[in-house]
Amino acid sequence: MIPFNIPAVTGKELSYIQEAISNKKICGDGPFTKKVAEWIEDYIPTKRALLTTSCTHALEMTAMLADIHPGDEVIMPSFTFISTANAFVLRGAKIVFVDIRPDTLNLDESLIESAITSKTKAIVPVHYAGVSCEMDSIMDLAKKNGLLVIEDAAQGVMSTYKGRALGSIGHMGCYSFHETKNFTCGEGGALLLNEESFVSRAEIIREKGTNRSRFFRGQVDKYSWVDIGSSYLPSELNAAYLYAQFDQAQTINDDRIASWNDYYAGLKELEQQERIDLPTVPVHCKHNAHIFYIKTKDLSERTRLLRYLNENGVGAAFHYVPLHSTSVGLKHGLFHREDRYTTQESDRLIRLPMYYRLTKDQIGRVIDMIYSFYAVSTANQFRTGVGLG
Ligand SMILES: *Cc1c(COP(=O)(O)O)cnc(C)c1O
Repeated sequence: MIPFNIPAVTGKELSYIQEAISNKKICGDGPFTKKVAEWIEDYIPTKRALLTTSCTHALEMTAMLADIHPGDEVIMPSFTFISTANAFVLRGAKIVFVDIRPDTLNLDESLIESAITSKTKAIVPVHYAGVSCEMDSIMDLAKKNGLLVIEDAAQGVMSTYKGRALGSIGHMGCYSFHETKNFTCGEGGALLLNEESFVSRAEIIREKGTNRSRFFRGQVDKYSWVDIGSSYLPSELNAAYLYAQFDQAQTINDDRIASWNDYYAGLKELEQQERIDLPTVPVHCKHNAHIFYIKTKDLSERTRLLRYLNENGVGAAFHYVPLHSTSVGLKHGLFHREDRYTTQESDRLIRLPMYYRLTKDQIGRVIDMIYSFYAVSTANQFRTGVGLG
């Protein structure tokens, strides 16, 4: 059995959690919360990183910071996780879904401008599989039209676009540390504030609408209710676990990239034979191997291959059901123009097992199984391609 995902463990998690317990400080914003935030601020970098209880919550915070009100419109892909939309729907926004590009499965930047109206407030690019959207075009459009750009970089930690880290390019960016993501603490996230002007309000929103952060810094002599907000600050125990991952961030990233490259090299032949499509990574994007996916001919072939892999012990999985195909999606949003690629490409997609310390032998078995499904002999070219000998 090769599972789809195993949450990363680097070995220091327990000792850091023990340290947090010994500190007698396990609520949020203790030493480990600060260490992780500092890592993000230094490495990414961003003006300010706030650890949150999830990426969903980081997105909810951005909707408050963007002052989204009922009737406002927010542009995003339909090929994304529910939280991307929900965060804005909770504030009364209407979601305008724009089609994706068939190569990267990211928002098609050339279609965004025609979706902008006088009610549009924000564009939310989602960096699928940790591969960047075309951020230069998106930032130019936003500037021209006075819009905010909120990056859903849940999958994009340590990926870059023209050398700039995902999450640090828009006005705000959101990361996820859910157990399915590259760096994890089970449930967790971060909000990246790339403009100073959002920082003080974001601290308040994260602390239940109070100015408690300023109080603890001695900047006010009592704390009170000053804005809307919620409880978006994670526990020190989660932050301690997460710090053990960021301690080893480069190791985790390198290991995943090596696995991704092995899949790619091993499956190249099948793509050349036009049986499947492999992921596209534009030359100016550096990805983080969050997902390795292949695309089959169509939905029916996808269903058969998925069943074949699952029956043979490979935890392969499809991905998003487009949001506009659900009744909630239609109630709160509309698809701008034609759905040319969103449904078609999501129907063809299969994600293969991908996690820290996936072995070459496991990758080889998955690849062999895919070749055998297509009844193409793999024995020679794959094993030399991936170096199993
Ligand atoms: C995982 C994910 C989320 C949600 O992250 P949580 O931390 O689980 O709330 C949001 N958007 C995208 C694109 C994701 O992949």
